[in-house]
Amino acid sequence: MSGIARAGRSAAVGAALVVIGVVVAGAGSGQEKDMSSQKQFEVDTIPTETGDLKITFIGHGTLLFAYQGKIVHVDPVGQEADYSKLPKADVILVTHEHSDHLDPKAIGMIRQEQTKVLLTQACAGKVPGSMILKNGDIVTVHGLKIEAVPAYNIVHKRPDGQPFHPKGVGNGYIVNFDKTRVYVAGDTENIPEMAQLKKIDVAFLPMNLPYTMTPEMVAQAAKTFEPRILYPYHYGQTDPNTLVNLLKDSKIEVRIRKLK
Ligand SMILES: [Zn+2]
Repeated sequence: MSGIARAGRSAAVGAALVVIGVVVAGAGSGQEKDMSSQKQFEVDTIPTETGDLKITFIGHGTLLFAYQGKIVHVDPVGQEADYSKLPKADVILVTHEHSDHLDPKAIGMIRQEQTKVLLTQACAGKVPGSMILKNGDIVTVHGLKIEAVPAYNIVHKRPDGQPFHPKGVGNGYIVNFDKTRVYVAGDTENIPEMAQLKKIDVAFLPMNLPYTMTPEMVAQAAKTFEPRILYPYHYGQTDPNTLVNLLKDSKIEVRIRKLK
């Protein structure tokens, strides 16, 4: 069973342009604008059996989830948003230590007493008091079960032969919003472990070269675990429509948002 409510799903297909303050209040419907906020972000609402999941697309590898009054930030970085204007975090997930994913200053702007920061060993020195997760670890924080999964390169390497993202260093995360499972892959290629992923409702897969995947690799990866909705993210200069074409005969709904 998928955690996404079947009824009314079609209403969630369009991306609404909503400012953050409205998103958190849960009042977004259609297009709203707040001129006091400088940058505006696209938001999708995913209805689930246990309430709406709102996804704000901050940019590149950076996301914001709001569900049942809880705020989950993924890879918050100042290059994508002014975090002094964004909602404070209940949970912060950091996939790996590269500067387009780990920004201690941005984390500091959204971190409160009760915020749980989940990250990798390589990030830990820069964010004291956080929780280190290895590939395979599962924790429940603020009622959300979070699974750390592998994220690494097989093919794409630096000139010295080191993979851009060596195995065992970075994490992808599966966030369980009750029965709705959202997979944020981090910087990875189409690794064999993806075929083991079960019941993924929403997936974010990276698609820029040379660091992550080609559209063909993303399509191949997605076919192994068949998410209901796939967002290519972290796609840089890659044309996301190539992926749409590659998956047009599949059951996977590919959604393109501003996630260069
Ligand atoms: Zn990256």
